[in-house]
Amino acid sequence: MKKIILFGPPGSGKGTLASVIIKIFPDIVHISTGAILRANLKNETPLGFKAKKYIEEGKLVPDDLVIEMVRKRLAQKDVKTCGFVLDGFPRTIKQAESLSKIVDIDLFLLIKISQYAIEKRILGRFSCQICGAIYNLYTLPPKVKGICDKCGSKIEFIQRTDDNVQSLKKRLKHYENNAKPIIKYYKKKRILKYINSEKILSLSNKQIRKMIEKEKLPLL
Ligand code: AMP
Repeated sequence: MKKIILFGPPGSGKGTLASVIIKIFPDIVHISTGAILRANLKNETPLGFKAKKYIEEGKLVPDDLVIEMVRKRLAQKDVKTCGFVLDGFPRTIKQAESLSKIVDIDLFLLIKISQYAIEKRILGRFSCQICGAIYNLYTLPPKVKGICDKCGSKIEFIQRTDDNVQSLKKRLKHYENNAKPIIKYYKKKRILKYINSEKILSLSNKQIRKMIEKEKLPLL
């Protein structure tokens, strides 16, 4: 059973990497804290109400709310039996420390990407409203314009409400402020590996298997 964290700035391809991993290990559960929060927003749950203004302003949702949300998700049966790829959590050192009290992580995958590529990714990003498949206007358009490759539904270029320049600047700032201690934390645990964002879609099954093999890395 694999317990993996995908870490990188907004737009680095955490969701894409998760789907690549799941193609090879279909039982692993993809947990995206951003997606869970957006679903709460859409369904107007109490958590959605509390999180709304933070998400729309590109701010981090308070730790206690997100930690509790993740704790609940990790206690569910599918995750307990099949493992998970965690995308978008932890985003603060407090979240990382809380997570280690809940579960032992096997692998922390750090995605490397340039600032230019981030902007292109975020500002061109959209997804299928029906099945959630991720596309990009510039780098990953659907094969047939306006039709989802995965489920065949009609799709339009509808951006996430927080995928705009203003919000992106804030999200990048939060990332810069919080990433260093988190990366150091997992480096110390000897479970950190790097991956280049540009290479995610060209990785072979063998390379992905090798990347997520459970092994302790040498101390750096
Ligand atoms: P994402 O889809 O991962 O880019 O997340 C979208 C938004 O959800 C972020 O900009 C935050 O407002 C919120 N969010 C997602 N994950 C977290 C987290 N671990 N801690 C705090 N806020 C989060």
